[in-house]
Amino acid sequence: MAEVARRSLVVAIDGPAGAGKSTVSKRLTGALGYRLLDTGALYRCVALLAQRSSVEWTDEAALAKLAGSLKVNFRLEGEINRLEVSGEDLTDAIRKPDISTGASMVSSLPEVRQALLDLQRGLGAEGGVVVEGRDVGTVVFPNAEAKFYLTASDEVRAQRRYDELCANGETVDFESTLREMQERDERDSSRAVAPLTQADDAVLVDSSERSLDEVVQEMLDVVRDRESRPAS
Ligand code: C5P
Repeated sequence: MAEVARRSLVVAIDGPAGAGKSTVSKRLTGALGYRLLDTGALYRCVALLAQRSSVEWTDEAALAKLAGSLKVNFRLEGEINRLEVSGEDLTDAIRKPDISTGASMVSSLPEVRQALLDLQRGLGAEGGVVVEGRDVGTVVFPNAEAKFYLTASDEVRAQRRYDELCANGETVDFESTLREMQERDERDSSRAVAPLTQADDAVLVDSSERSLDEVVQEMLDVVRDRESRPAS
């Protein structure tokens, strides 16, 4: 039987913190043989580099300048999506809890979002890429051929984030992890520019009661089906 010609797509995965986006995105990327663009890591980079150079997380003009000059490179190594910025490995440094808060703050600034929009579109332009974030299916790649909105209950998401932070050696308690996550969700969903929301044509996936394998398989089936359809 003739082999079906498959196309390399842009796969958009949006959803709130702790829904399992990053783990699911890595597995899906590996299974598809695509590249992985973690857009949250870009906002985290801006927050980290600002902190290092004593730029306030509210200084829109300085932050936008910083965002516009980012030179990033992602490399997926098994379960780790390595991030290099101007040759320096920032994979771990951007995951600290204060940088999560900083990323959420800088991401509410329109000029920062605009600067990173161009960068993201450039990085995903060739297709064959899984892009994870908050506004990927709605703003960054509105024409993405496969879109997912991955979510889970607040408690499940906070527990996952708490386990992740403990595994990384951070000293945290569950209640404050839950509170910080809810504050971050509130900021991400209520901001004026590109708020976190499900695209009309995104497939809703709730990971609360399902295993990672089940979630990844469901998404893989959708992408494989779309890869074999002619371009519309
Ligand atoms: O996904 P992650 O938790 O690494 O994202 C960090 C922060 O970056 C989010 O809380 C959100 O404020 C911001 N973000 C965004 N738009 C994206 C990705 C992340 O505003 N596409």
